[in-house]
Amino acid sequence: VTTFAGRKVALFGLGGSGLATAQALIAGGADVIAWDDNPDSVAKAQQAGVKTGDLREIDWAAQAAFVLSPGVPLTHPKPHWSVDLARSAGVEIIGDVELFVRERRAHAPDCPFIAITGTNGKSTTTALIAHILKSSGRDTQLGGNIGTAVLTLDPPKAGRFYVVECSSYQIDLAPTINPSAGILLNLTPDHLDRHGTMQHYADVKERLVAGSQMAIVGVDDSYCTLIADRIERAGVRVSRISRRAVLADGFYFADGGIIQAHAGKSESIADLQGIDTLKGSHNAQNAAAAIGACLAVGVSIEEIRKGLRSFPGLKHRMQPVGRKGSVTFVNDSKATNADAAAPALSSYDRIFWISGGLPKSGGIASLAPLFPRIVKAYLIGEAAPEFASTLGEAVPYEISGTLERAVEHAAKDAQADGGTSVVMLSPACASFDQFRNFEVRGDRFVSLVAALDGVTMLIV
Ligand code: ADP
Repeated sequence: VTTFAGRKVALFGLGGSGLATAQALIAGGADVIAWDDNPDSVAKAQQAGVKTGDLREIDWAAQAAFVLSPGVPLTHPKPHWSVDLARSAGVEIIGDVELFVRERRAHAPDCPFIAITGTNGKSTTTALIAHILKSSGRDTQLGGNIGTAVLTLDPPKAGRFYVVECSSYQIDLAPTINPSAGILLNLTPDHLDRHGTMQHYADVKERLVAGSQMAIVGVDDSYCTLIADRIERAGVRVSRISRRAVLADGFYFADGGIIQAHAGKSESIADLQGIDTLKGSHNAQNAAAAIGACLAVGVSIEEIRKGLRSFPGLKHRMQPVGRKGSVTFVNDSKATNADAAAPALSSYDRIFWISGGLPKSGGIASLAPLFPRIVKAYLIGEAAPEFASTLGEAVPYEISGTLERAVEHAAKDAQADGGTSVVMLSPACASFDQFRNFEVRGDRFVSLVAALDGVTMLIV
C-alpha cells in the first residue's frame, strides 16, 4: 500500500493480519514502527524485517497514522494504552481495511468491492458471493475477517472483484469505507464486551452500509430496519432483504426460493430447494443478500443461479459431509452456543443430535421448541449432565462421553431407524474441554464419519 509512502506510521498488534499489514506498508515505502504486548509476536516481526519499538517511547507528533489490529480495544472496556497515546497526539487511528479502501480509491476506484457485515452469516455470505463470482469466471479476491488479511490479496485493478468480510472491529477502524455493494445481514446482541452498548455496535455496523453505493440490508430485526430507513432518507440506494416477510420492494424468501419485488411486480428469481448447502431460512437470508450484491455489481441472474447450485458450503457450518442410504451426516461444529445451534436444528426434521462440550451459560434451554425434531441426543464432554437434565423426559438421550462413541452410536441408531434422517454434530458448546478448537472438533467428526462402513463422502 502506497498511501503512506515516505511517511511515518505507528502500528500496534503483530498477529497474522498485523504483521501482513506492517509488511504491506513497508513494501509501499512507509517508515513503520511496530509493537505488540506479546514479546513472541515482536520477535517474529523483527525476524520478518519489521522495525519494532515500544510505542510509549516514540515521537507521536511525527506519525502520519496509527494502524491498529482489529480486536485491540478501541473503546470498551477501556481503550488500549496505545490508543490513548495516538488520541492525545491527534493521530488518526485506522485498520487494514481502511488501508485497502484508500489503495482502491487511489488506484482502481471502479473495481467492484463487496463488503459484508452482520452478527450472523457473514462468512457464509462472503464465501457464497466469492463462489458465484469465481464460478462465473471473474477475477475474485476473498478476504478480511473470513481469513486472508486484505492487504495480502492481489492489489486493486480494474475488473478485479473484492469480497471482504468485515467484523464490527474492522469497520470501527475503517472511517471512509465505501463499498460498491455493502451488506448488513442482521443485528443481534453480540460482542458487547468490546462495543459496550448495542447502540454503539449498531452505529458501527451502520457505517458500512451508509458508505455504500448500493446498500443491501436485512430487515428481519428492528435495528436493521431502522438503519435501512435512515440511510435511505440520507440518499443511499437501499435494497431490502427478508427471510420471513413479504416485501413490496426487495428480495425475500418464499416457497423455497428468493422472490424479487419491484414496482408492484414480483417474480421468483432463484430456487433454493434441493441445495443442501443453503438449507434453512437463515441461509435464505444469506442467499438473498448474495443475489442482491451480485446483481448490483453486474453479475447476471443465470450466473448467480449457477453459483448458488454449486456452492460447496463452508466447513463446520451445517455442512453435509457424508451419506449412507437415507442418513446424511452434517458437521455444524461452528455452533458453539445454543443460538448458533438453533438454525441447524430448525433445518432438519429427524435429527440424531451430537451435542455437548464446554457449556456456555444458559445451556440449551432456549432450544426447547426444537426438541421435537430430535430423535435422540448423544451427549459429550463436560456439558453432558447439564444437557441431560434439560432434555429430561422431552428427548431420549444417552451420555456418550466422547465424540467417537457418539458418532458410532448415532450412526447405528439412524441406520436402524430406516427413515430419512441426519446425524448432526451441532454442539451448542465450546470445544476446549476435549479439542483445541471447533475446527479440530469438526475435522475429527468428519474423519469418524469417513471411517464408518458404507458411507459416501460428499466433500473432498
Ligand atoms: P459469521 O461469519 O457471522 O460468524 P457464519 O456464516 O460463519 O457466520 O455462520 C455461523 C453460524 O451462524 C452458522 O453455522 C449458522 O448456524 C448461523 N447462521 C448463518 N447464517 C445466519 C443468518 N443469516 N442468521 C442467523 N444465523 C445464521
